Amino acid sequence: MEHLIENVAQTARDMFARERLLPLKTDVTPAELAAHLKRTFNFEKPMDADQVYREVTALLDRESVHSNNPRYFGLFVPQVDGLTVAAEALTALYNPVVALWEFAPAAVEMEKHVLNCFLDRLPWDKHSRTAHFTTGGTESNHTAALCALSHAFPEYGARGLRALEGDPVFYVSKESHHSFQKIANHIGIGRTSVREVPVDADFRMQASALEQRIVEDGRAGKLPFMVVGTAGTTNAGVVDPMHELAAVCKRYGLWFHVDAAWAGAALISDRLQPHLAGIEYADSITVDAHKWLSMQAGSGIFLSRQVEAVRCSFRVETPYVPESGRSNEPSPYRATLQWTRRFIGLKLMMTLAVLGREGVAQRLHRQTELGAYLRKRLRSRGWRVVNDTPFPVVCFQSESGEPVAALYEEVMGSGRVWISKTILDGREAVLRACITGARAEESDVDMLMAELERARKKVRISLGAEPELVS
Ligand SMILES: *Cc1c(COP(=O)(O)O)cnc(C)c1O
Repeated sequence: MEHLIENVAQTARDMFARERLLPLKTDVTPAELAAHLKRTFNFEKPMDADQVYREVTALLDRESVHSNNPRYFGLFVPQVDGLTVAAEALTALYNPVVALWEFAPAAVEMEKHVLNCFLDRLPWDKHSRTAHFTTGGTESNHTAALCALSHAFPEYGARGLRALEGDPVFYVSKESHHSFQKIANHIGIGRTSVREVPVDADFRMQASALEQRIVEDGRAGKLPFMVVGTAGTTNAGVVDPMHELAAVCKRYGLWFHVDAAWAGAALISDRLQPHLAGIEYADSITVDAHKWLSMQAGSGIFLSRQVEAVRCSFRVETPYVPESGRSNEPSPYRATLQWTRRFIGLKLMMTLAVLGREGVAQRLHRQTELGAYLRKRLRSRGWRVVNDTPFPVVCFQSESGEPVAALYEEVMGSGRVWISKTILDGREAVLRACITGARAEESDVDMLMAELERARKKVRISLGAEPELVS
């Protein structure tokens, strides 16, 4: 069945050649799909491999929102390229299990090599810094919370929350990522221990409100242990005031975690890194390579300058794992959350090797410029840009007041582009467009503009025709 591997190469070539035609919309229902699958694949009756291959690719083609189409202006899901697909295929083929150094020295060291490219962008002490790949931003943020707990409460690793003399609490902003709600649940402190600090008019965490909340919690006998700053919010790409948050953390002895899942890619660009200034004070940082760095899903990165806290959190001894002592660092399974895990870092290593750091940075710059182009076009056509960010995500409304929900339905109904809508700070409904495609061009943004104009006209007419909708 090895010939199927050649089919994949052909599928990839076909797909990249027609990427602007890939569907951005599907109306299929779960019941329809389940019925189709039942009809097509009967596990009691084995089927020809080529036929399975054809059915599977046809289904994926038809019933997916394709982020490989550069007119997908979406939720941080990137366009991938042939190089990373090849790297993923090698990962699948060699299947090195990145748990134990001795099993997979090449894979473990390649991951370290690529992660050093990120660590070297931070002025951290070489002896206390550490980094590893994770399944994504959620695992990286979870890792940060565990390390922060171990750091604040040395007994936590052995005795858990029972060892503490009160309720631990941590701080995020109202615009932070909702993974922290789940994480609070996972780590046993509960969702009510997440303090959502208000944001200012630009949707950045208010450092003064943060400090006030920490003081109040302290007086009430709570145990603050971590502050999470977001560098590039999911909604609006906004960067919290890093220096101010770092100063508050220092004053109260709290772990400073920066969630830079999307915009953290900017670390590798000389031109964009200044927008993250202050991130170097973080004790730990989340970056998702599967967002702005254009890698396939399941590629998170966790960086920290507190190697002891990280090792404490994941320390374990086993009689059945043969370690030679050739590596003077603990194997990944003893220093990270996962145990058996896939070789996540190869695609990023190969991308950096082929394009160079500067080449990858230039890809970010082009997308940043396209974001600026979109902002300019929107403003010139009577749309109001609501968010203030140097990064290529734009939140906007129509100056003439057509409702966001109606515009959104109209744009998405066409299937020619994909955008999202959201609510900023729980009060402001906006349309949201993010440049996620590394191969997106001005003509794709022009297409988006044309769709927005068409939608606005249509909504205006429908509002005029049905005045009861206006209220
Ligand atoms: C996407 C995102 C996350 C979650 O990352 P996953 O890789 O989806 O788990 C966390 N924080 C921010 C700011 C994000 O944008």
